[in-house]
Amino acid sequence: MSDGPGSDMATDAWVVEESRFDPERANFYETLFTVGNGRLGTRGSLEEGHRGQLSGTYLNGVYDSHDVPVIDLVNVPDWVDTTVFVGGVRLDVDTCTVVTHHRVLDLRDGLLTRSTVFEDTEGRRTRLDTVRCASMADRRICGLRLEVTPENHTSEIRIETGIDGDRRNLERLPLYPEGTVFAPETRWEKWARAKHLQESSRSADGALYLEMRTIDSGVDLAFAAATSFDPPPQHRSVRQRSERVTEETVHVGAPGETLRMDKLVVITTSRDPDRAATGTLHDRCHAVLAEHRRAGGFDTVVAESRAVWQRLWEDCDCEVVGNAQYTRALRFCIYHLLIAANPDDPTVNIGANALAGERYRGHVFWDTEIFMLPFFILTQPDTANALLRYRHHTLDGARVNAREYGTGGARYAWESADTGREECPKFTADGANRFWTREEEIHVSADVAYGIFRYVEATGDTAFLRDVGAEILFETSRFWVDRVEPAVGGEGYELRQVMGPDEFHSHIDNNAFTNRLAQWHLTQAVNLFDELRDQHPEAFAALGSKIGLEPKERDRWQEVADGLVGARFREGVIEQFTGYFERDDVPITEWDENNMPRYPKGYHHFNCETTQLLKQPDVVMLMYLLPDEFDAEIKRANFDYYEARTLHKSSLSPSIHAIMGIEVGDTTRAVQYFERSAFVDLSDNQGNTDEGMHIASAGGTWQILVNGFGGLRILGGRVALNPWLPDDWEGIRFRLRWRGRPIHVAVDHEHVTLRLGGPDGGTEEVIVSGKPVQLTAGTPAQVALEGTMPQAVPSTVT
Ligand code: BGC
Ligand code: BGC
Repeated sequence: MSDGPGSDMATDAWVVEESRFDPERANFYETLFTVGNGRLGTRGSLEEGHRGQLSGTYLNGVYDSHDVPVIDLVNVPDWVDTTVFVGGVRLDVDTCTVVTHHRVLDLRDGLLTRSTVFEDTEGRRTRLDTVRCASMADRRICGLRLEVTPENHTSEIRIETGIDGDRRNLERLPLYPEGTVFAPETRWEKWARAKHLQESSRSADGALYLEMRTIDSGVDLAFAAATSFDPPPQHRSVRQRSERVTEETVHVGAPGETLRMDKLVVITTSRDPDRAATGTLHDRCHAVLAEHRRAGGFDTVVAESRAVWQRLWEDCDCEVVGNAQYTRALRFCIYHLLIAANPDDPTVNIGANALAGERYRGHVFWDTEIFMLPFFILTQPDTANALLRYRHHTLDGARVNAREYGTGGARYAWESADTGREECPKFTADGANRFWTREEEIHVSADVAYGIFRYVEATGDTAFLRDVGAEILFETSRFWVDRVEPAVGGEGYELRQVMGPDEFHSHIDNNAFTNRLAQWHLTQAVNLFDELRDQHPEAFAALGSKIGLEPKERDRWQEVADGLVGARFREGVIEQFTGYFERDDVPITEWDENNMPRYPKGYHHFNCETTQLLKQPDVVMLMYLLPDEFDAEIKRANFDYYEARTLHKSSLSPSIHAIMGIEVGDTTRAVQYFERSAFVDLSDNQGNTDEGMHIASAGGTWQILVNGFGGLRILGGRVALNPWLPDDWEGIRFRLRWRGRPIHVAVDHEHVTLRLGGPDGGTEEVIVSGKPVQLTAGTPAQVALEGTMPQAVPSTVT
């Protein structure tokens, strides 16, 4: 790896560190050091800012389309905003010399700490220490602790801190010729900016207060901040400017004496789930702030947040035993997943770059259900529930999408934001290439259905199906039966003009992935229809009248499921879509420094249509999602065929190849794919971590550990493990939650050790390497692993 994960990272498997300030790497660390809690994410920019910074706080669900071609996740007011002046000189990397700089993100408690020593032109050295926290315990509150210590001088210290509402989203226009490189200080100054906020009010009655409203979507955002100092300042004043409220304090600093500021910030919005609560945003904001100040201020906020983090890690910690770098990478992925999703808000989801940046404008893709949801389903089921409820919350938007594309029912957007309407751009930023994803990646509706069933299967939460799941499934089934067309020259139905997960091929017919998943979706809907009708007549009647459901619709779903064109095989290989085998079989002949394929000469993202090259797994993805529908030989044949043609031009690709390679017994590249996925952001191996986290890849990385090395599949409604470890790995550990009970799993080369938690006496049957094992809560079970690993996952379990 060119920029190895070890370069700036300590060996402790719980922390990510930065050990010097490098303008070239500053934006990369801003992404890595995002703090958050699923409601909000704040990039790890320096408190005082720097030239070339790409700072941002994002509130989940707050989108706006003012003045932009495509709706944005709004870059909201900066609550961190803090600058220190020594004898009138601003302490920042542009004005002073950085003597030392060290930051640590502690994954255990989500705290970002910093220690920087600046020297100004007068030779004065001053240390700044900060701690930053976005509370997991009360998602409305954030805290910043600042400590200023003059090292060799006695000077006037001035601190400016406040709320800065003068924010813009980045619009990457105009375009510069490919390959243009800007200096890090000016990199972002080149681009257009979009304004999404205007001030509604500001004040300083007891606390700094700024209220802004998103221009088109009309969401009110209120920020209140209060500071406390030790020792108290000599002078305190407030400056109010348009879109910014700042407090200025003056102190006398003496060598070795530390002065401390604690800042608490409360954010409330008009779209919070408790928006029906009485009082204005201003009053609510101030009340919550006062509550936290009474309860003990910054230290208490941190302590309460830490306690929640501790519980979270008890649920979902993972380890590659004896390998701190891998373990840290896994925990880093989990940390970012945990700060991306909000279990308390069923109206929000996770954008493709989480709350850590503006790439993909905060839009929600299939990434959630297929790459991230498995982690939440099996460790944080309440969060999984909330993520799926977002799909219910946006069902009306999906209904509008269906009408727009000429069908009944509901069709989920390829790119979804606050309403569920389709938000996918039609063109690349330069207008040169058309994205067909919005029209054609219709598999997303089946992916949502898939997520729902996986959730219910793992949690036993059948009430979810009755409350909201059935409505989603039936409405999307209506979409499928309208979207199909009679098969040309034969019986049955086809899905034409689609795009599978492999985005290199558009306008294709009968994509095996889409057809099979749509068919699976319709079959599940039929079964659910029957079950509700027979076993829950009241819920069935209520839903029936809500959406005007007719019994004949169920028969139509069945008819289409039965008639949808099935996969075409050639020597055991499923044809990805009609005519795929006739496309040019262009060989991959070059690999990059990460040992990942390069585009063959002359090819790029938009001209692989005529070839058999894949951007990411498609048939192989299908085999992963429906593990018991393909036998071991077919899986192997398809893995071999398609892997040789896959370029992995999406960060979603390597994880699935790691997992499926292990399953089919081709483990040659398992560790390489794992590294590619696990370090996609820690090592910036896609080159764009500066603009946000590849959060689906983080979910995929967790799946490699659990579903790849752990070999976990759900077969016949039971947890089945079929582990495989690389020779030089000591072991792995992970934690699951299955039907309400925790299961701790440890694997080494000889054994699988399982511990079932929950009330004593409880039991659960799991399958290890094909054999049933009875687990009893409180009594660890050790199962010897026999034979040479890996063994193909059995396609059926008896
Ligand atoms: C992605 C598509 C997406 C498009 C527009 C592309 O990079 O591959 O899935 O729809 O960007 O956002
Ligand atoms: C991938 C899609 C993915 C999107 C957002 C694209 O590059 O091809 O599968 O949904 O990125 O992460």
